[in-house]
Amino acid sequence: MPCLEMDIARARAALERLGEMKTRQVTDPALAVQTMEPLLRDREQEVFVVLLLDTRLRPIDIVELYKGNLDGLTVRPAEVFREAVRKNAAAIIVGHNHPSGHAEPSPQDLHITRVLARAGRLLEIPVHDHIVYGAPQAWCSLREQHPDTLN
Ligand SMILES: [Zn+2]
Repeated sequence: MPCLEMDIARARAALERLGEMKTRQVTDPALAVQTMEPLLRDREQEVFVVLLLDTRLRPIDIVELYKGNLDGLTVRPAEVFREAVRKNAAAIIVGHNHPSGHAEPSPQDLHITRVLARAGRLLEIPVHDHIVYGAPQAWCSLREQHPDTLN
């Protein structure tokens, strides 16, 4: 399938999944993974996504923000929170994939999480979790594995 068609199919799958998840509270990281999966699965490049949540942690929207090598990339809090502010999100969950299939967060991933958590506190839009996605059965919730990065 040509690239553009694949992107369109992926965006459509992501929207459908979001629709299915809209009435559910994303308190369990497995549900966050399920919501983000259409955008993170089988990507050749790293992709960074932001899931916008309402006051009851139900998904409002999902935004694909960056594509490329995140370790060589500065994730800017202003960009991460822009849509959250615009759409009145009460909280966010961020996520990115590792094309290698390994879900072990890099030192840079932990650093980014701390920076975003700090920005979220200032904006009063908490970062509820950061998901590192390797494969369907291989992902890591930083809230579960590295809660210090979010506090
Ligand atoms: Zn990473």
